[in-house]
Amino acid sequence: MPEKKTKYIFVTGGVVSALGKGIASSSIGLLLKKRGLNVNIIKCDPYINVDPGTMNPFQHGEVFVLDDGSETDLDLGHYERFLDQSMSKDNNVTTGQVYHTVITRERRGDYLGATVQVIPHITEEIKASIRRAGRARPDTDIVIVEIGGTVGDIESQPFLEAIRQMALENDPGDTVFVHLTLVPYVPTAGEIKTKPTQHSVKALREIGIQPHLLVCRTVKPLDESIRNKIGLFCNVPARHVIAALDVETVYEIPLSFNREGVGKAICEHLNLENIDPDLSEWEEMVSKIKHPSHRVKIAICGKYVHLKDAYKSIIESFIHAGVANDTRVDLIWVSSEDIKKNGAESLLDGIDGLLIPGGFGERGVEGKIESIRYVRENKIPFFGICLGMQCAVIEYARNVCDLKDAHSYEFYAELKHPVIHLMADQEGVTNLGGTMRLGAYPCILQQPSRSYEAYGADQISERHRHRYEFNNAYRDLFKDTSLILVGLSPDGRLVEIVEDSDHPWFVGVQFHPELKSRPTRAHPLFRDFIGAAVEYNHKKKDPEAVTDISQVEKNRV
Ligand code: GLN
Repeated sequence: MPEKKTKYIFVTGGVVSALGKGIASSSIGLLLKKRGLNVNIIKCDPYINVDPGTMNPFQHGEVFVLDDGSETDLDLGHYERFLDQSMSKDNNVTTGQVYHTVITRERRGDYLGATVQVIPHITEEIKASIRRAGRARPDTDIVIVEIGGTVGDIESQPFLEAIRQMALENDPGDTVFVHLTLVPYVPTAGEIKTKPTQHSVKALREIGIQPHLLVCRTVKPLDESIRNKIGLFCNVPARHVIAALDVETVYEIPLSFNREGVGKAICEHLNLENIDPDLSEWEEMVSKIKHPSHRVKIAICGKYVHLKDAYKSIIESFIHAGVANDTRVDLIWVSSEDIKKNGAESLLDGIDGLLIPGGFGERGVEGKIESIRYVRENKIPFFGICLGMQCAVIEYARNVCDLKDAHSYEFYAELKHPVIHLMADQEGVTNLGGTMRLGAYPCILQQPSRSYEAYGADQISERHRHRYEFNNAYRDLFKDTSLILVGLSPDGRLVEIVEDSDHPWFVGVQFHPELKSRPTRAHPLFRDFIGAAVEYNHKKKDPEAVTDISQVEKNRV
């Protein structure tokens, strides 16, 4: 059987960075998927790192780990959430990977006799990577290719050259170029300005790419005269100048794109039948985000509280859990170092739940441990993720089991009580890139437990990213306490979940549940954590109240 012909949508960005190309690409993907098409999305990152795993969160935000263990760009999180489809290593290509492949081949002698150059060797490898993503899923109709960076950057040029070549090699009607741009409003002039868009399209045309569709980020609606002007100067029909007005939640963007006719315009260019997409489930989810019945306050205590991109998937998971509980989740960002300075009582007063996210390094750890003591003793719902779970074990060992110098081997090599220690297979590992315990691993749940209650299953699979683990030498210490090891690896060796059975909702997990939460299928643990927070909030206001939270329909995964 001949291979199915795949069509390509290339998404570029101009004027400024952070226009939301990832969300725009995901929204286009959703509009096409809801038309019954098989869609895949790939992110091309122009940096020289092989993957973002070794980057500081300040450089890159969150590292999004996939089932197969690849450490990828946070935009892959948007792709998974919007398309409700799991990605693989083929969905993220970096300059580092491309050069690594080409240089390895050169050393092997594959190009014997040739001078290895950006064009054609690097561009050919970029094209091969993009086509590989087309084949990664069976029956892919469309691959959306998001090119990272801003048009005009030196780094992204080989990627732009590669997609220009691909358009030339594809059959007519098999390629669409979508350019995301900014149309700023200048308050002193009281006017919307089109010049930056004109310049970024000019830069694209200089390298041989004529965009078919312009998606204009704007704070004001674009009237017909503005669309005509942009269309005229950028050589695009005015009806394909799309206004992307700021909206309340990112989940509204596909709906706004649909109203603006983005899907229709793409179908027109790709010679596809324009079926009305079924967006009813999505619309219902957005309406639940905008009109919730309850409200809770959750504190997130971490090191990068000023850099929300470092916790992107956690923030999104709370939105999904809010939808599942008909609740607005207000996030309070607390610096773990401030807790150390000012104490937990003053900073955490009034919260309905505490989440300690994953993290690395000793800075801020004592504040995290102190905040866990506060919520454990005050019976406030607690959710610990990765380092958050490790801190919960340390806190319990210190304050309940009286092991005052319990700590993690990550922070001090000379420790009397390393209740968290290096995983056996991490010993001797010296390279830092891609060497943690990464990706999906199974876990067996014990009953009864909050975790079993949430998942409704006794075997689960979750994604990991860590080097340290619960130290089995201390299992006996917790034996007759309320800290129960409710989730273990199938061979029983690795502790994946701990719970305090003497607490309404206290769960610490060694994995990253936030990486698997989806807007219409909230992660079971986030969902139940917010359920417990709603219950706590109701009881706090009226201790006699019988809450109706058990009645809230739960969208079980
Ligand atoms: N630093 C800890 C470890 O490597 C926790 C990692 C994390 O929170 N992702 O085990």
